This record gives sequence, C-alpha cells and structure tokens, in this order.
Amino acid sequence: MDLYEYQGKELFRRSGIAVSNGRLALSPAEARQAAQELGGPVVVKAQVHVGGRGKAGGIKLAATPAEAEARASEILGLDIRGHAVHRLWIEQASDIAKEYYLSVTFDRGEKKPLFMLTTEGGIDIEEVAARTPEKLARLHVDPLAGFHPFQARWLCFTAGIRDPGEQKQLVAIIGKLYDAFVSCEAMLCEINPLIVTPAGELRALDAKVTIDDNALHRHPELAEMRDLAAGNAQEQRAHEKGLAYVKLDGDIGILGNGAGLVMSTLDVVAQAGGRPANFCDIGGGAQADVVVGALEIITADPVRAILFNIFGGITRGGEVARGLLEALERMRIDVPVVVRLDGTEAEEGRRLLAEAAPPNVHVEDTMLDAASRVVQLAASG
Ligand code: GDP
Ligand code: MN
Repeated sequence: MDLYEYQGKELFRRSGIAVSNGRLALSPAEARQAAQELGGPVVVKAQVHVGGRGKAGGIKLAATPAEAEARASEILGLDIRGHAVHRLWIEQASDIAKEYYLSVTFDRGEKKPLFMLTTEGGIDIEEVAARTPEKLARLHVDPLAGFHPFQARWLCFTAGIRDPGEQKQLVAIIGKLYDAFVSCEAMLCEINPLIVTPAGELRALDAKVTIDDNALHRHPELAEMRDLAAGNAQEQRAHEKGLAYVKLDGDIGILGNGAGLVMSTLDVVAQAGGRPANFCDIGGGAQADVVVGALEIITADPVRAILFNIFGGITRGGEVARGLLEALERMRIDVPVVVRLDGTEAEEGRRLLAEAAPPNVHVEDTMLDAASRVVQLAASG
C-alpha cells in the first residue's frame, strides 16, 4: 500500500525526522485557510500515488493565501499520469540550498534492506544510477545484525558528504528512517529531496512510503490510511468480484488467467511495441460470468484493443469462449478483441468463437502472434 506524501511525512514526523509544517486541503477555500494559518509563502502539493508531480504541474509555490487558493484550483482535478488530484498538501515553503536523496527499500535479491544516498537529489534515482553511478552510495543492512550508526557514517562518507553538521544530522535521520522502515514493515521509505536549507538544516521535503500489504493486519493505524475513494474505483470493483486488476497507462486491455501468464503477456505486448492499459487476472477455473465481469472492468478504461490470453488448466477454453460471447451480447464492446486460447478445451473454445464469428473477435494460435495482432489493431483502431 502506498501512502500519500502527507501520510508519509506524518510517519516521518512521528519518527523524529524533520518535515515542514503543513495542512491537508480538499478545496481551494481550504487551501487559502491553510496558507493563512501557516503564514508566509507556502507550497501547494498534489497528493497522488505517483511521482514526478513537480514536472506535471502538481507542485506550485504561493506567496499569499489568495495565491494558494488560485494555485489550488489549478491543481485540484488535474490528471497526473492517470491519477486525478482530490487532495492537496499545503506546507510552509522551504529555502533550498541543496537537494539530497535518501531511501531504504527491500532488496529481494539480497534479502536485506538496502540504503541509497546521493547528493544528486531532486531527480529520479534511476537517472542518477544510470548517469553517475559513482555518486550513489549503496549499503545493505543485515536484518539479523540490525542497523549500526557506523553504517550511516559510511553512507555519508561514500556519498561525499563532508560537512560535519550535515553528517551529524544525516546519521540521525538514517537511523530514524531505518526504525520507521522496520517498525512499519515498509517496502520503501524514500526522501527525495532531502534538503539542506541555507541555514544548514536537513529536512524531508517529500515522502514516498510503501507498506507491505501482507503486514497491514498488524498495523491497523496504517491500514486506516488507505484511501478507498481515491484508490481506483475499478480496483475496488474488481476486488469485490475476486479479480486481480491493475491499471496501467497504455491502450491495450489484457485479460489472462494466472499471475505468471498475465505478467508474461504484458512483457510480450511490450516486446511487440504495445502498451497495456490495464490487466485483469481471472484466476483458475473461471466461469463465463467471471469473464463478463472482467471485461466490464477492462473496458471501463479507455482501451483501443483487448488481448485475451488463456492457457486452460482448470480453466476451460469452452467456458471462457462462452463468457466472451455472452459479454459481447450483454455489453457493447466496440474495440477489437484478440483471443489466444490454449490448453484444456481450447478446440471447443475456438469452435464456439468460429461458429459465432463476432466481427471484432480475432483468434490467433500463439501468444506472440496474438500480441503482434493486438498491437497492430490498437494502432490502427
Ligand atoms: P515530486 O515531483 O512528485 O517528486 O515532488 P517533490 O515533493 O519532490 O517536489 C518536487 C520539487 O519541487 C522538489 O525537488 C523541489 O525542487 C520543489 N519544491 C518542493 N517543495 C518546495 C519548497 O518548499 N520550496 C522550494 N523552493 N521548492 C520546493
Ligand atoms: Mn520528490
């Protein structure tokens, strides 16, 4: 579960990491009120579960409460990479001398938490890793031995942070971030940028925190932070139907059975030059009505074509084909649907589709052929 910036900052604040004072606002009037209470210039920040808000126009400085109100009405309702803005975080503006980057994440490969620190903050860490890997200090913490302050000093030294005042503050922040990471059972705690003010004070200007969903039952106070309204309405609907659905930002809808097959379908579509709009995993043994439900969810996003990739094990091809035909009768699907059916009862499924021969259904024999076809149809549709 991803936390919003303001929730992550609340967590940081409770952990003893310095953050700016701020208020949540749901309307331009509330933004004005918040700016009034905070006093002085503020930053109006879109609260969405996606990064790069600054570049997308979701973060604006405001010198007065009236300006905060104006910036708030510009940002509210904005669409930031597929996420509508419904909440704003208004915080006291900071003067920035330097922007650092600090994170701790779970490295599954090493089975250890991994710290990353660089003085090249404010930009994507992937960019730093690609362009100037020597500027990125990385350190694994053995979870059994735990974290020790010398590791924080090593990180500072390796990142090239020489100022003793900065080092002192950073060592404290790194330790506190590790405590927060462990006690919340987080998968990621990222501060980008971690700023140094002209007075030499370090402060978290952004917060990206992801909590392990499987640990949420142990953290009711964090589980409470889940925002059902903003958490995609479709995801909610899919969840209620027992379907795994994930929204992406391309234009091809993907329906498959089984997480592994769905993941490889995404890869093959990407390889064929396409971009998935979403995917829905109907799981094993799905009946026709499940297929109908999945199609309803997939087509609620703006898709230009749909790829049906079914490898029948306990899921039977005939049942899936019936579900698709039923869906085509019950609802209007204007976009082309490419179907690849294999495994149990695949012949039966293909026979049913051939008999009904809906004009927008295209059957392909292999996953690769199906992927190329759907990419081609999405591009020409
Ligand atoms: P992101 O774009 O989603 O990562 O959002 P951030 O919260 O990291 O903000 C993006 C950028 O906006 C930061 O890197 C800063 O350069 C700038 N910014 C954010 N808050 C302030 C502030 O209080 N004062 C100033 N001067 N710039 C800010
Ligand atoms: Mn940021």
